[in-house]
Amino acid sequence: MLKKITAAVLSLLTVLSFSSCAGKQETSESGKVKVTVSFNALKEFTAAVGGDKVEISTMVPDGMEPHDFEPKAADIAALSQAKVFVINGLGMESWAEKAVAAAGNDNLIQVNASKGATPLKSADDSADEEHGQYDPHLWLSLKGAEIEVKNISDGLCEADPANAEYYKKNCESYTAKLESLFQEYKTKFSAAKKKTFVTGHAAFAYLCRDFGLEQSSVEDVFAEGEPSAKKLAQLADYCKKNNVKTVFVEKMVSPEISETLARQVGAKTVAIYTMEGAEDNKSYLDRAKANLSAIEASLKE
Ligand SMILES: [Zn+2]
Repeated sequence: MLKKITAAVLSLLTVLSFSSCAGKQETSESGKVKVTVSFNALKEFTAAVGGDKVEISTMVPDGMEPHDFEPKAADIAALSQAKVFVINGLGMESWAEKAVAAAGNDNLIQVNASKGATPLKSADDSADEEHGQYDPHLWLSLKGAEIEVKNISDGLCEADPANAEYYKKNCESYTAKLESLFQEYKTKFSAAKKKTFVTGHAAFAYLCRDFGLEQSSVEDVFAEGEPSAKKLAQLADYCKKNNVKTVFVEKMVSPEISETLARQVGAKTVAIYTMEGAEDNKSYLDRAKANLSAIEASLKE
């Protein structure tokens, strides 16, 4: 008797969830799961796990600084049709809660990709109003990426249990690639005498935690909005003291101050990727490897 009732309830639930899904078009015409992600790195992770079973739309357009992003009506519309919404969390998407409320999508599965990570406090005291108290740049750490990929995999399994094995397998093989790159550079960085590097945007605190390194950022010079001559002079002193021969620059952050600093201390500028947008048509793993190899080279100078 109980079994019969359970079966009836289950089939009723199936019908209910089926009908509510059907009205919302959470799968694309080709039957793929619609996933909305906030910015580029999460798109990469979702594509690695979701493969050909997902259709991904990215909210923050390429070329836009995601820290300053505000969703448009079209983004809310996409979110109202999505099955899964992936954010980085840690205050990176201060707009997400409002966007989800506006989308009014009761079936939306939300993935906070940084869930379970040990957060670092934001280095910038003035960042509290803008991004909260934590440093959001977890995806630039390979160990952080492993956590994000796993959370995304869990979300896709929940959204599409029929393909759970597929997602889990992709998650495992992508995690193995992240881990092997991590192990390679763990060895290299532990052998390096110099442990500090200077970059434009202070986005590498989690990467530094992975490898026992220390970042210093040109961005601090802008702390009060205007470039401060005093801060720049302090940073120049720091560079000279620490024998810094490379200043890293990112596409999204104004490179002029980095160039000025580099000239002052006789260093060169080298590009580094933040993966907040698409860059040079390169994958996450390509860019992670390029970053690590450039940082390693700078530590040997
Ligand atoms: Zn950033």
